[in-house]
Amino acid sequence: MSLFRCPICAAPLRREDRSYRCQKGHSYDRAKEGYVHLLPANKKHSKNPGDDKGMAAARNRFLSGDWYLCLRRTLESLAAETPGQRLTLLDSGCGEGYYTQGMARALKEQGRTAAVCGVDLSKTSVRYAAKRLPEGEFAVASVYHLPIGTDSIDLLVNCFSPLALEEFSRVLKKGGHFLYVVPGPRHLWEMKEVLYEQPYPNEELSPDYPGFERLKVVKVEEKITLPDSQTIMDLFQMTPYYWKTPASGTARLAKLEQLDLTISFAVHVYRRL
Ligand SMILES: [Zn+2]
Repeated sequence: MSLFRCPICAAPLRREDRSYRCQKGHSYDRAKEGYVHLLPANKKHSKNPGDDKGMAAARNRFLSGDWYLCLRRTLESLAAETPGQRLTLLDSGCGEGYYTQGMARALKEQGRTAAVCGVDLSKTSVRYAAKRLPEGEFAVASVYHLPIGTDSIDLLVNCFSPLALEEFSRVLKKGGHFLYVVPGPRHLWEMKEVLYEQPYPNEELSPDYPGFERLKVVKVEEKITLPDSQTIMDLFQMTPYYWKTPASGTARLAKLEQLDLTISFAVHVYRRL
């Protein structure tokens, strides 16, 4: 059985070689990399929602360089702290599966059985994820309409992705853990100093959510040196600043051949009540 549910009738899906199928006969083709489209046609707002090949490639190059390894390591150890011998893990907004892969590996190294799945709106990213972690299940789907059964997930991860609390609360088992990654106040500070006349630190929030108990916040901060323009611009494309920086700021950044940079994250750990 698959962790995924039929987006039309919500029945469990069975994973077959070339497709996913529910008992009512709804069928979804698997791409050759193994991922599946579970976005109902009426939820597609454009032909390729959330998809931009260039940006997905930039992001995949950057993360594959392990520049954010400290965050991945943190998520791996937090995954390892999740209770249970047999675990189900959902990476909501999994992107190219860089963190999904790390967490799956960490659980496996502990000798635990983990069924791992990820969803993202970007087909290109989901394709990377399916290649990165062939034993995982990946779907092009909306985090606001997760193709996942109610009370079925032990560990849900949301890393720089939309917060769909109602859905998260629905799919998580009672006692299940939820890891929510947000940028720290000084994240990418030196890049913002290049982009803006007057950069502002990110707001530091520690919100409480109904139905969740906050267990802890784990902060991760490091200084890294990006060694060339390609790496700097790859990272820039991953940030929200890419969309809102004036051309003059982008031009200043594009001239840099090296950048010493603070990376800073906060992982909020919640337990579903
Ligand atoms: Zn169905």
